[in-house]
Amino acid sequence: MFKQPVNRALFDEVMVPNYNPQQMVPVRGRGSRVWDQEDNEYIDFAGGIAVNALGHVHPALVAALKEQADKLWHLSNTFTNEPALRLAKKLTDATFADKVFFCNSGAEANEAAFKLARKYSYDNFGPEKNEIIAFYQGFHGRTLFTVSVGGQTKYREGFEPAPGGISHVPFNDLAALKAAISDKTCAVVMEPIQGEGGVIPADPEFVKGVRELCDQHDALLVFDEIQTGVGRTGHLYAYMGMGVEPDIMTSAKALGGGFPIGAMLTTDKVAPSFGFGTHGSTYGGNPLACAVSEAALDLINQPELLNNVANKRAIFVEELEKINTKHQIFKEIRGDGLLIGVELIDSLHGQGAAFLAAAREEGLMILMAGPNVLRMAPSLIIPDQDIRDGMALLEKAAVKIVAAAAAA
Ligand SMILES: *Cc1c(COP(=O)(O)O)cnc(C)c1O
Repeated sequence: MFKQPVNRALFDEVMVPNYNPQQMVPVRGRGSRVWDQEDNEYIDFAGGIAVNALGHVHPALVAALKEQADKLWHLSNTFTNEPALRLAKKLTDATFADKVFFCNSGAEANEAAFKLARKYSYDNFGPEKNEIIAFYQGFHGRTLFTVSVGGQTKYREGFEPAPGGISHVPFNDLAALKAAISDKTCAVVMEPIQGEGGVIPADPEFVKGVRELCDQHDALLVFDEIQTGVGRTGHLYAYMGMGVEPDIMTSAKALGGGFPIGAMLTTDKVAPSFGFGTHGSTYGGNPLACAVSEAALDLINQPELLNNVANKRAIFVEELEKINTKHQIFKEIRGDGLLIGVELIDSLHGQGAAFLAAAREEGLMILMAGPNVLRMAPSLIIPDQDIRDGMALLEKAAVKIVAAAAAA
């Protein structure tokens, strides 16, 4: 039937080259372990880029998916459905938000957020108030609007002309924001911890200052919690640990525990600007996605699970420090909860990709956040022993990277 071997080589033959996946093909996973076509085992510290918050193939998520699969798959938004209504109720009960818009990915959630911010200001203050301020190194997705609000030119270069009315200031620099913000600003957009940009947390004082500046200028504060949300920091959403509330918040990644879903959450004050017919998505609020997401949220939004995130982080940090005491390769360990960034020392800058490949050869999946920072975003319920076993593999990879760097 299928005449060709299905392997990594086939990727280069039939896929657009925008990705360069590792040289093996995973075929199954369970918890924080994954196996490839040759049945090699991997410990997963990547978590599908902060998506698989309950690990792979969690029984409760499988059960929710199977149950919904036998009932109803899709309707479109000409009709509403029970899983979407239940999930929206649970999200609004659990957060600052009063209203939810569902979509299928992070970029779509941000696209909705930025459009809503513009529309709200247009409706309430007129067309002149349309400027969006975001931060250098910020990441908000790969649509044209979201790469334009994102603060890394490399994701935008070659795709211009970009949408206008967007400017960037340095992260954690309140004076810079104060100088840039004006009554023409409709929104300030930020990640509570810049994820792709290098795992850089916002200073608590900075966040409070941003909120105040937004209030002074009638600008909406948009939190992109696509990477930091759904338990990642040990809070259901990171803003809950920061003493401020946004006006709009986006969630995706872990929200579906591995099933694609995105959500934009906002208040009763702002939501009316997305009146009937102003925005939409065919798949948004899909019953399968919402059923899985509801099961994931039920499990994650529990004090015991959330409180345990700090304990798991402590094991990660302890093991990383042990490796560093022996090999002196890390400059800084950053992040919060189970969003962990490890900056390599200056002499190893640029070695992130080599590190990833070396780790994979040892049987460990990790991520990067730029060329100099290793990133880990594992399952929130990764067994303690898997953390320690994975760290032993990371140390082996580290030894190889150091030897290769010394030989070069
Ligand atoms: C991953 C991510 C996005 C984009 O999400 P997609 O589902 O890939 O579109 C946006 N913002 C942040 C902070 C992210 O980490």
